[in-house]
Amino acid sequence: MSKRYYIETMGCQMNEYDSDHLSRILEDSGYLRASAPEQADFVLLNTCSVRAKAEQKALSRLGRLASLKRKNPRLRLAVAGCVAQQRGVELFERFPGLDLVLGPREIGNFRGILGKTEMGGTRVAAVDAHGTPVSFAGGFEYFHHSVKAYITIMEGCNNFCSYCIVPYVRGRETSRPPQELLGEARNLTLQGVKEITLLGQNVNSYAHEKMRFPGLLQAMNEIKGLHRIRFTTSHPKDLSPELIQCFGRLEKLCAHIHLPFQAGSNRVLKAMKRRYTREKYMDLIGELRAARPGIAVTSDVMVGFPGETEEDFEMTLDLIRRVEFDNLFSFKYSDREGTPAAKMEGKIPEPQKLARLDRLQELQRKITLKKNKELIGRSLEILVEGASKKGLGLTGRTITNKVVNFINDKRYINKLINVTIKRASFNSLWGELTSL
Ligand code: SAM
Ligand code: SF4
Repeated sequence: MSKRYYIETMGCQMNEYDSDHLSRILEDSGYLRASAPEQADFVLLNTCSVRAKAEQKALSRLGRLASLKRKNPRLRLAVAGCVAQQRGVELFERFPGLDLVLGPREIGNFRGILGKTEMGGTRVAAVDAHGTPVSFAGGFEYFHHSVKAYITIMEGCNNFCSYCIVPYVRGRETSRPPQELLGEARNLTLQGVKEITLLGQNVNSYAHEKMRFPGLLQAMNEIKGLHRIRFTTSHPKDLSPELIQCFGRLEKLCAHIHLPFQAGSNRVLKAMKRRYTREKYMDLIGELRAARPGIAVTSDVMVGFPGETEEDFEMTLDLIRRVEFDNLFSFKYSDREGTPAAKMEGKIPEPQKLARLDRLQELQRKITLKKNKELIGRSLEILVEGASKKGLGLTGRTITNKVVNFINDKRYINKLINVTIKRASFNSLWGELTSL
């Protein structure tokens, strides 16, 4: 009987990409995909530890998966991702059923590690934080057969923002060779992919020999058959004039940027070690809007950083009102062990953080709704991805990354079509095919 594997992924798109890589290796080694962990011989949980809540969720899920081993002692259980890197061998004590702890920078060595794990008898901890990034070179078959795909172009981060665990668990920045990335993008395009998102913790500091990020975008833009290019995430301090100009110059580069600002007060930004000011951030937004009128801007923001006063928080709200983001991912600050912020004084009580988060989200809801309503009556190009999860017909995204639902007609799946926006809510838009 064939061996079966089951992978569960938490966290960011980079984890999704890594999980794809792990799945391919398992399939190459004779495993078939199982639809539930109970049916698998190899179970892997790919985890996130960026916030305390994500880590707790990962540990409690790991506990439940470990209990499967009581019923099936032959099961091999693995944990990967940032929690694996951060907690390392300590996880073996906490979860006696665990066979493998695999850090994100070891995923490229998984083929060899799998062999050791399968033999049983030894538990393997692979947690070198300085390994080379995963490479999909070698022309794997594309997995999802979807019209959209992701490519991780660089791993790690050198910024050490004072609250962030990423540089400790994902290691220093390493950029993948451009030839490899372009080969991967061409391969995906040949398999029907129309939109590629380039991933990295800080994509705009991509550097491989003489190649920089704007050069990579230019080369991607020349790939025949590829229609849309996106990237995430960028750091404001590395958003160069050349990169801003790409939004005006490269027709395949979508009119959307995700540019985390984190806080609107210069005092807090300094304590966060973000290395830009609110004024600089707002200037960048002005330059982006001049280079590509109508560009959508989304961002990440945190409330309740240690020492954040009511006045600091008001500055954050003020920046949100001035910039008018299309959407925001907002978080309550949480201590991450080993980061400088975890040792800072002036911790904000949870209820206060929650009250600030509520106020901020209420403000952003109004802005997002207003911006979505402005699109009513406009005809927009969308890339149709498939059926909407909520049963609202088909779903796709505009170049500004807004979700549009429209009638259920399978002929349009995977196609670029124009729809006229008829209704708008906070989460999505409803459109009808634009009559030509
Ligand atoms: N590299 C990206 C950047 O510089 O913005 C984002 C990386 S992080 C995975 C995603 C978001 O998580 C951050 O933008 C930040 O808002 C949030 N985050 C990171 N550390 C956090 C912490 N300790 N508590 C709460 N939110 C945090
Ligand atoms: Fe974390 Fe800052 Fe690096 Fe983003 S830039 S991953 S927030 S250290």
